Amino acid sequence: MVKETTFYDVLGVKPGCSPDDLKKAYRKLALKYHPDKNPNEGDRFKQISQAYEVLSNPEKKRIYDQGGEQALKEGGMEGSGFTSPMDLFDVFFGGLGRNRRRGRKGQDVVHQLSVSLEELYNGTVRKLALQKNVICDKCEGVGGKKGSVEKCLQCGGSGLQVQINQLGPGMIQQVQSMCSECKGQGQRINPRDRCKQCNGRRTIRDRKILEVNIDKGMMDGQKIVFTGEGDQEPDLEAGDIVIVLDEKEHEVFKRSGCDLIMRMHLGLIESLCGFQKVIRSLDGRNLVVTSLPGVITKHGDLKCILNEGMPVYKDPFTRGRLVIQFIVNFPQTIDPTVIPALEQCLPRREEVIIPDGAEECYLTDLDPEQEARRRDTRQAYEEDEGGPSRVQCATH
Ligand SMILES: [Zn+2]
Ligand SMILES: [Zn+2]
Repeated sequence: MVKETTFYDVLGVKPGCSPDDLKKAYRKLALKYHPDKNPNEGDRFKQISQAYEVLSNPEKKRIYDQGGEQALKEGGMEGSGFTSPMDLFDVFFGGLGRNRRRGRKGQDVVHQLSVSLEELYNGTVRKLALQKNVICDKCEGVGGKKGSVEKCLQCGGSGLQVQINQLGPGMIQQVQSMCSECKGQGQRINPRDRCKQCNGRRTIRDRKILEVNIDKGMMDGQKIVFTGEGDQEPDLEAGDIVIVLDEKEHEVFKRSGCDLIMRMHLGLIESLCGFQKVIRSLDGRNLVVTSLPGVITKHGDLKCILNEGMPVYKDPFTRGRLVIQFIVNFPQTIDPTVIPALEQCLPRREEVIIPDGAEECYLTDLDPEQEARRRDTRQAYEEDEGGPSRVQCATH
């Protein structure tokens, strides 16, 4: 049990989820609430980032699970400060975005692409329609007629406005801000000479179709980079478009690296007397599995079929295993008249010696969930009453 679940809730995962589930949850939410896509959700982006930072660090996670957020603060774990949400995002997505913006390169754009397990198994090409900024072809990124660009009169070309406030006798304050006239560009175009197509903005929105090659065996979270396909800006090298794959859940198979895992339900008769089953593979083949005569398949048994898992990325002729977890469904009741015949076939039962004076008891069904609920309400009740004196006998 964990003390509080706030960080788990923020990421939409359950305590005890795997590190992979955690990564996936962060990836999805961080992309969704990144300020570039969702400028009004800055706080949300920060929360997601902090929750992931704690839960992805074994030491911080342990402290949080035991003592909650308070314990993190007391343990000085927070004193060392959270990584900035942007830096965490950059580290997670491999140094995309902000870092490079400081250079002469435009910003990278990250998109998530939802893909089915079949697509990752067989490989496919997906077409993706995107909107992006491109240099206006009419004015070639000038924003108006050639020679129509002039220095901004308001700021004299600096792009900055300086305001001087008199705070008191002999005390002045200088406030620098972006020039409102030219929006920091330092230059302006006479409205009459403005390019009609881009209205002086120098770039236009354009629709672009990207062909994304999904290779056999690609993984959830894998990135496909289209260098220089990001937004164009005058005087800057265009950034990249980065496609992050998001593997959809499959009805039958769960993926674990190169292995596929599935559950197979057996009736009791199949468990004891053998079975034959057909599995539909992800490329549409029918795989027949037959149990060996005389072998009992127990509830929870694990078996695997070699080379029927996921193809290995860049080595698609090699495949992982298909792991089958068996679930045996027992019948609810049995006809008492067939029991003697059944006993003949099954291993003999051990004889039980009942001592003199033994007491006869009855077995009652027990539902662990219901039991847990009952315990919770009883605990709340006892706390109200100020002590555990009201413990009841649990015979009902
Ligand atoms: Zn133009
Ligand atoms: Zn200006």
